[in-house]
Amino acid sequence: MVQESKIRVRFAPSPTGYLHIGGARTCLFNWLYARANKGTFVLRIEDTDKVRSTKEYLDEILDSLKWLGLNWDELHFQSERFEIYRTYARKLLDEGKAYLAEDGSGAIILKMPQKTVEINDLIHGVIRFDTGLIKDQVLIKTDQSPTYNFACVIDDSQMNITHIIRGDDHISNTPKQIVIYEALGLKLPQFAHIPMILGEGGGRMSKRAGATAITEYRRMGFLSEALANYLMLLGWSPGNNQEIISLKESSEKFNVADANKTAAAFNMDKLLWINSQYIKNMDLEKLSAELKSFCEAEKTSAQNPWDEKEALRVLKLYRERATTLIDLQEALKIFTGPELAIDEAARQKFLSIDLSREFGILKENFSNISEFSAMATEAAFKSTVDKCGITTKQLIHPLRVAVSGRTIGPGMFELLEALGKERTLARIDSVLAGFKK
Ligand code: GLU
Repeated sequence: MVQESKIRVRFAPSPTGYLHIGGARTCLFNWLYARANKGTFVLRIEDTDKVRSTKEYLDEILDSLKWLGLNWDELHFQSERFEIYRTYARKLLDEGKAYLAEDGSGAIILKMPQKTVEINDLIHGVIRFDTGLIKDQVLIKTDQSPTYNFACVIDDSQMNITHIIRGDDHISNTPKQIVIYEALGLKLPQFAHIPMILGEGGGRMSKRAGATAITEYRRMGFLSEALANYLMLLGWSPGNNQEIISLKESSEKFNVADANKTAAAFNMDKLLWINSQYIKNMDLEKLSAELKSFCEAEKTSAQNPWDEKEALRVLKLYRERATTLIDLQEALKIFTGPELAIDEAARQKFLSIDLSREFGILKENFSNISEFSAMATEAAFKSTVDKCGITTKQLIHPLRVAVSGRTIGPGMFELLEALGKERTLARIDSVLAGFKK
C-alpha cells in the first residue's frame, strides 16, 4: 500500500500538438502542487492515438517543459500499456458491467448505470451529474486501443495519483471517469478543475495571444522564468499584490485550492512587463548566458564569436530599456564590427544635412582623447559644439545615429565609452564619407 499522505500528481499531454499556454499552465500547477507538498510529479504521455501522435510533438513538449524548469519524477507512455487496459476491460466484461459491440468489431463498451455522481472539486466545490444523460461509454475501440477516459482512469489509479489537476474543459469527462472507478472498485482521487484561459478580449484564445506554442514565446525573446511567473498568475496569486515570484518561492506557497474559480484572460502587455522586470533584475552573467543561448538557437550572427566582455557591457547599458531578448540582440548588433546598418528614417532625419565640418572637428577632438571614457567624450563633444557655435541638440542626435544607427538608446557618452575609440572614429569616418557624396 502506498502511503495515503504522499501527494502524487500528473500532467498528461497528448503528443498530437504543441504545448500551448493552457497546457503549460496546467503542468505548472501540478508541478507546483507536487513541489509544495514534497510529493511526486508524474509526466504521462497519452499517446494512444498512434496516427496523430508524433515524435516531433513529443520532443517539443519535453523540450518546452525542460526549458520552463518543470522537471518530472516519473515518465510513462500509454502506448506501452495497452495490455493493461485490455485486462481491465475484460474484467468488466466478465462481471457483466461491460459488453462487446454488437457489430462484432471487438469494441468493449461500459453500461452506464443510472445515478447521480458527485464530485467534490477542490476549486469549485460540489458538482453533481445525472448519468442518466450519459450514453454507454466505449472503453476499448475497434482497433483495440483504449479510449481517453478509460486509459486515464486505469493509469491514474495504477500510478496512485492522489490529485487530478486539469482544465475546466475536462469537467464533462469526470463523471464518466468516476463511473469507471466505481465499476472497477477503485479508490477515487481528488479533483481540481482549473478555469480556462481566455483570449485578450475575453473570448477564445487567438493565435496571436496564448494559443501559440511555448517554443514560440522562447523565439519571441521571453525568459523562461518570466513566462513561468506569468503562467502562475493566470489563476493563482501569492497574495499581497505580489507579481514577481520565482518558481522556487511559489513552490513553497502554492495550494491548488487557492486557485481562482473564474477564467483568467491572457494579457500580452503583462507578460512583456514581467519579462522586462526579469531582464532588469537578473544576475548580469546569467542574462548574458541567456542571450548567448538565445542567439545560438536563433542562429543569429549578432556576435561571432561570442565576446562575453562586450556582451556584459552592452547588457549593462541596454537592459533597463529592453523588454525581450530580441531587444538585447538588436543592441548587440550595434557593437558588431566597425560596419553599422543605419536606420533609413533616422538617416533622413538627422544625417541629411551636411555636417561635415562639425563631424570633422568632433573626430579630431575624439582622436585626441587618450582614455576614451564617458566623461572625456562628453568634454570633447562640448568643446566641439562651442567651437561650431551650435546647440548640443544639433549634433547629439546626428552623432547617435552615426554611431548606433538609431535615434534612441542609452546615455550618449556611456554608449561611446562602450563602443570604444576605434569603432567610434570609424563610424564618424563613414558618415563623413557619406556627406561628400
Ligand atoms: N491527454 C489529456 C489532454 O491532453 C489529459 C487530460 C487529463 O488531464 O485527464 O487533455
